[in-house]
Amino acid sequence: MTGTTSSTDLFSRARQVIPSGVNSPVRAFGSVGGTPPFLTSAKGALLHDADGTEYVDLVGSWGPMILGHADEQVVEAVREAAGRGLSFGAPQPGEVTLAEEVVRRIRPVEQLRLVNSGTEATMSALRVARAATGRDVIVKFAGCYHGHVDALLAEAGSGVATFAMPGSAGVTAATARDTVVLPYGDRAAVQALFAERGSEIAAIITEAAPANMGVVPPREEDGIGFNRFLSETAHAAGALLISDEVLTGFRASAEGYYGIDGPQGGADAWAPDLMTFGKVIGGGLPVGAFGGRADLMGLLAPAGPVYQAGTLSGNPLATAAGLATLAGLDQAAYRTLGSASRTLQQLVADALTTAGVPHTIQRAGTLFSVFFREAPVRSYEDAKAQDTAAFTRFFHAMLAGGVYLPPSAFEAWFVSTAHTPAVLDRIAAVLPAAAAAAAG
Ligand code: PLP
Repeated sequence: MTGTTSSTDLFSRARQVIPSGVNSPVRAFGSVGGTPPFLTSAKGALLHDADGTEYVDLVGSWGPMILGHADEQVVEAVREAAGRGLSFGAPQPGEVTLAEEVVRRIRPVEQLRLVNSGTEATMSALRVARAATGRDVIVKFAGCYHGHVDALLAEAGSGVATFAMPGSAGVTAATARDTVVLPYGDRAAVQALFAERGSEIAAIITEAAPANMGVVPPREEDGIGFNRFLSETAHAAGALLISDEVLTGFRASAEGYYGIDGPQGGADAWAPDLMTFGKVIGGGLPVGAFGGRADLMGLLAPAGPVYQAGTLSGNPLATAAGLATLAGLDQAAYRTLGSASRTLQQLVADALTTAGVPHTIQRAGTLFSVFFREAPVRSYEDAKAQDTAAFTRFFHAMLAGGVYLPPSAFEAWFVSTAHTPAVLDRIAAVLPAAAAAAAG
């Protein structure tokens, strides 16, 4: 320790020993510029940094902190679990209860395996899909982010979008060849690809509602939602649909985005074959999960031929945090989230409209994002056509006023049940100046 603790000092020390000073690229503030606050504590909807500055948080650790930071029940559950041992590397009751809870809440999930991140979840789901079909090709959509899996980095959202990267160096040509990227929502492109190469395709993977290029909800055509269309198209060709709900799961609604666009009963049943989760189900500790049809999950070792494992998978602290978080997510919690989300959307829309800043707000259940352009955003191309310079001015004015937004125009904003009306008032007080700054 040097004894100096300001964010500026910490960032300069960090850059000596950690690439770009961060352990995940978007945290470096590369696209908005400036020094990222180094956070030292958080409670409810508030963050505190090394300089003693307090912020209202609209990042929520990118999704997990849906009950707010340091929720008493979650912290107590983790403390209690820690007293019983940090890791066993052996079966433990919490992982059974967490899997049961996910299976109970998410209809398409018959069996679930826990891993340590969303990236591991999507990587493992691809492996199962390839084993089940005996095929290699994976279809993904531009602007969808599924973690930093080699096969899924092409035209990805999140940090890859923030830094305008076409993909990642270090991915082999063979891996890239097995991934086909299509424009999001483009049914004709999906049909054309399946007509030409359907017998090579193992799976389509999609975010249930894309939220890593900003929120771009799937659209209905002739009464058929895009996800259902993907499921039917894949199945007609003997391929699978993997629905990535790492971000939307337990957030867009109680049953994630499937709770919004899945069948609400009746004859038109459809379901993804595999689903991936993360973020909320770990309550802030490292957890991911993939699950779905029992026959597919039965392919996993040791019963089946698909190897997949993890020293810390099903960790007792992580399952305790996840279970306590799910326990806090009752109907009242979703009502609170919905109301906080709607109020904030209105406040932002009013401020930007008053300042004459072109914008579009898009939502997927309680999840939303703000695009700095007038026209609706339906694809990654649309998302890239927004005024990122206006966002950068808006972002810095919000930060200076004590509101911590995602440092990228391509990310969703995250509210929690701790975003009370009093907290929203604090955001409302900063918005006019930030909107004026965005206007330039
Ligand atoms: N899938 C989606 C939809 C995500 O939003 C993310 C992360 O933001 C991931 C996968 C990867 O999850 P993780 O960062 O836990 O590896």
